[in-house]
Amino acid sequence: MFEKILHRQPRRIALRILRACRELGIKTVAVHSEADTEAKYVRLADESVCIGPASSTLSYLNVPAIISAAEVTDAEAIHPGYGFLSENADFAERVEQSGFVFIGPRPDTIRLMGDKVSAKDAMKAAGVPCVPGSDGALPEDPKEIVKIARAIGYPVIIKAAGGGGGRGMRVVHTEAALLNAVTTTRAEAQAAFGNPVVHMEKFLENPRHVEIQVLADQHGNAVYLGERDCSMQRRHQKVIEEAPAPGIDRKLIAKVGERCAEACRKIGYRGAGTFEFLFENDEFYFIEMNTRLQVEHPVTEFITGVDLVQAQVRVAAGEKLWFRQRDIEFRGHAIECRINAEDPFKFAVARPHQQLAHARRPRRAGRFARPNGYTVPPHYDSMIGKLITYGDTRDQAIRRMRIALSEMMVEGIKTNVPLHQTLMLDPRFIEGGTSIHYLEHKLADRNEVKD
Ligand code: ADP
Repeated sequence: MFEKILHRQPRRIALRILRACRELGIKTVAVHSEADTEAKYVRLADESVCIGPASSTLSYLNVPAIISAAEVTDAEAIHPGYGFLSENADFAERVEQSGFVFIGPRPDTIRLMGDKVSAKDAMKAAGVPCVPGSDGALPEDPKEIVKIARAIGYPVIIKAAGGGGGRGMRVVHTEAALLNAVTTTRAEAQAAFGNPVVHMEKFLENPRHVEIQVLADQHGNAVYLGERDCSMQRRHQKVIEEAPAPGIDRKLIAKVGERCAEACRKIGYRGAGTFEFLFENDEFYFIEMNTRLQVEHPVTEFITGVDLVQAQVRVAAGEKLWFRQRDIEFRGHAIECRINAEDPFKFAVARPHQQLAHARRPRRAGRFARPNGYTVPPHYDSMIGKLITYGDTRDQAIRRMRIALSEMMVEGIKTNVPLHQTLMLDPRFIEGGTSIHYLEHKLADRNEVKD
């Protein structure tokens, strides 16, 4: 096992990594920007190194500074956190070439799965169900493109191979609009991602977003840790996540989960990862893989009892998976509400000068809730915390979430807590199984009535 790990993450998950390492008896080095000098995780780490000013380009994204910090502190491994550099194959490669262990998949796996076209090809070959679409990249010949779209059936979606964060996609409803859309998406993809390659998929009109968590060691063993339903979204940003996904046949989850685990064995995956699927009419359709830990990982930890951060560290250190698929039991239900510093219904982000005056996490529900992070990060994004509840049943988890939200106190800034309170009482959410468009439609209706 490692003796010392360096981790780079502005706030959010830093404390989580620190605690996981401490429990494993590993010392931690926190790298941080000047804006985070006073952050709790910096004060609690065994050692800390300031790697630059508040702007993340100069600090959290400053690769040479991160590597130097690992060198001077004699760390053996680097945990990339999530976001930022966690899915950057070049960063992983630099880390390994500098003689450190990258706590995540191998650089070539990150590269393979980071390209939507190669990822889908690999998953198809591994037997993971994919959205029907073009076989690989779209050809140049317009006639061929029209033929492919006819075979798939409209509407279709044109997606950039290098796209991400909901960018580089265009939905096409008619043949008349097809070729223009392909040309525009190619040009945009070239400008935004330096890669003009696009592919085509059937556009699913009303799907849910259901993802499967996997964990793999370096000895060819892989398991799936169930699914998460992340359909409650706004502008492709997840707002609520829960596990298990309501109303889906457990046998189907087991079948798709096993395919995902098998795909991990085939591509030599290492560490924790997520297969993202759209789910419509009782079918799963793979859209992409995230080769890192995700914001919503705690709901899986609650229902499986597996500590995913510790698991990442243990497999990176070369340990064999210490349990088999049949040892994993799914128990109870967990829900996560992302607490953002923004207007609950209009979504204008709280300005940095609107500093958080005071925040307190729910007490009575405290045993079942796990809020993280209480200060507004003025230089980073608007998520200030996560509120997670667990219950024996979904109904109990929802009731506990209502209590936790009512006891949550955040002063000085606007947050989306009122939105979550509305959703926890929403009959369609309570019923379960809403599509990825539900929240947008609900908000549009609400704002129309108000205007
Ligand atoms: P990104 O890497 O930009 O997040 P994804 O491939 O994960 O791109 O797609 C982002 C979102 O776009 C999905 O969550 C879904 O809402 C929508 N989407 C992507 N592909 C399709 C599709 N074939 N049909 C319908 N919606 C899609």
